Amino acid sequence: MFTQMEPRDSLRVLLAEDNVCDQELMLRLLKYMGLYADLAGNGLEVLDALKIRSYDVIFMDVQMPEMDGLETTRVIRQRWHDQSIKIIAVTSCNQEGDRETCIQAGMDDYICKPAKRADLENALSCCHLYEP
Ligand SMILES: [Mg+2]
Repeated sequence: MFTQMEPRDSLRVLLAEDNVCDQELMLRLLKYMGLYADLAGNGLEVLDALKIRSYDVIFMDVQMPEMDGLETTRVIRQRWHDQSIKIIAVTSCNQEGDRETCIQAGMDDYICKPAKRADLENALSCCHLYEP
């Protein structure tokens, strides 16, 4: 279910994640950083969300039902040709593809589950979206 949160920060974040525990972890880490995210539970919901709002960054789970993170990223890159939306893969690194696969699909960066605050900060810093 796509859930839109109140915009409380200038950085517009979309979290694409189907697992409730992983959603909670990511939202908590983002909150520590002063960031709030809208939620999408699969790739189709991501595409719906992008019709309504624009985002600076999407944290994208790779394995999701309906449409996975790799396919969703390919669609986004085809549909929105500019690279202004930063897409950061969040994956179980030992099983779901590798960094190369994510980058080839059009993602900008890659972090492993369970995500840590330092990983999020590094990824956002690399995209020039966050100053710790
Ligand atoms: Mg998943």
